[in-house]
Amino acid sequence: MDYLPVFLRLAGEAAVVVGGGQVAARKVDWLLKTGARVTVVAPELAPGLALRAARGELTHLAQPFAPAGLAGAAAVIAASDDPGVNAAVAGAARARCIPVNVVDSAELSSFIFPAIVDRSPIIVAVSSAGASPVLARRVRAQIEALLPERLGALARFLGARRTAVRRALAPGARRRFWERLINGRAAGEVLVGNEAAAAATFARELRARGDAPGEVYLIGAGPGDPDLLTLRALQLLQQADVILYDRLVPDAILERARRDAERVFVGKETGDQTQQSRINELLVSLARAGRRVARLKGGDGYVFGRGGEEVEVLARAGIPYRVVPGITAALGAAAAADIPLTHRDLAHSVTLVSGHAAAEDTLDWRALARPHQTVVFYMAVAQLPRIVARLRAAGAAADLPAAIVERATLPAQRVLRAPLASLAALAAREQVAAPALLIVGEVTALAAAVARAPLAEYAPLAPADCATIGAVA
Ligand code: SAH
Repeated sequence: MDYLPVFLRLAGEAAVVVGGGQVAARKVDWLLKTGARVTVVAPELAPGLALRAARGELTHLAQPFAPAGLAGAAAVIAASDDPGVNAAVAGAARARCIPVNVVDSAELSSFIFPAIVDRSPIIVAVSSAGASPVLARRVRAQIEALLPERLGALARFLGARRTAVRRALAPGARRRFWERLINGRAAGEVLVGNEAAAAATFARELRARGDAPGEVYLIGAGPGDPDLLTLRALQLLQQADVILYDRLVPDAILERARRDAERVFVGKETGDQTQQSRINELLVSLARAGRRVARLKGGDGYVFGRGGEEVEVLARAGIPYRVVPGITAALGAAAAADIPLTHRDLAHSVTLVSGHAAAEDTLDWRALARPHQTVVFYMAVAQLPRIVARLRAAGAAADLPAAIVERATLPAQRVLRAPLASLAALAAREQVAAPALLIVGEVTALAAAVARAPLAEYAPLAPADCATIGAVA
């Protein structure tokens, strides 16, 4: 370790920046955030700095650098475009034992600027010790994506309650209380911006001496590709003690959950009512035992996912729950197979239909067979010939374009396109298997007509993007 990461307290202290350009301006921004009294030494200032000087946010010395200007400074930054000046600043600062950073010169610096994630008062600083600032920024961006937007508000919320907790609880109980609180409901409420509810929850839990009840997160896992999880799904998967998951949730998604979380497979053949009641009972008993339970469902829990039934059971049992939306299979398949579900000329509505309902014949086939719309059938593989026959009988054209998207967004995804009349035969020949969607409508013929330019190789966070986000190295 070449550098010791420390956090320098600069509030009210004098800080000197030599240089008046863009680079200096970025350093000045950070210094001002700390509450430092900033003096900029430079013959001329870039417009942003000049504006700050005019507003009295900093002191501008419009003169060349002179060592005497460093008197009383707690930190110095050399950010001029003249290497000779920067070296002189570094020498003068070191002679006075003042910490100094020289932009683009680790050798002349006694401290370097990290890449910063600022959720004040939570601050994350990342350094590559100068080996690769671009990589440090990429790590920063990855951490940035993981940390909730309101993390700083949570830290302030907790900070404001330290005395109350110290008064109420003994040291051991205190630590357990904080751990539960940070992973629990009150923290969740702060993170979604509901501080009033959080304050009430906190007070209740403190009175209960930290014996808070468990809770359930109903999380949509998306169509299969783990990169299509939402940030909130990831955050809650990191918190949960137990994960109940379905057949549609692949291992690659479970791997994103907390390592030591218990995993329970509750996959079922759809429509199996005994298994569904077992799941409901399990959710309730785990939460009553104080566990945080992630109920992970393929796609979105509220689209053919029976999420509504589970939430009803939880509400009746008085168990707190949160619902996290996921990308439903129709949206995942549409993006992955280049099928816009609506289109100004071709489809003015999109309907999501259960294939099981087709089997029970409870559908309005005439409405589904009308032109200028897109109809997506879930759970349709077994019912394919029947669906096609019903649509045709209700007036759908034999050559109406249609497609089957099998294992959408997963590595083995297949897309089969055919006119409606020949689709069932094609599916049989290709041995299409669940999970697959049937999409009916003119939009399914579009992608075939449009040739795609090849993409650059996919990287989750392209360094080029990070460079435009970050100003510090
Ligand atoms: N709640 C889920 C749907 C569950 S019903 C969602 O919102 O997506 C199960 C049906 O969803 C499957 O029979 C299939 O029709 C569809 N499905 C789910 N994942 C799929 C995938 N990756 N590719 C194609 N279809 C999928």
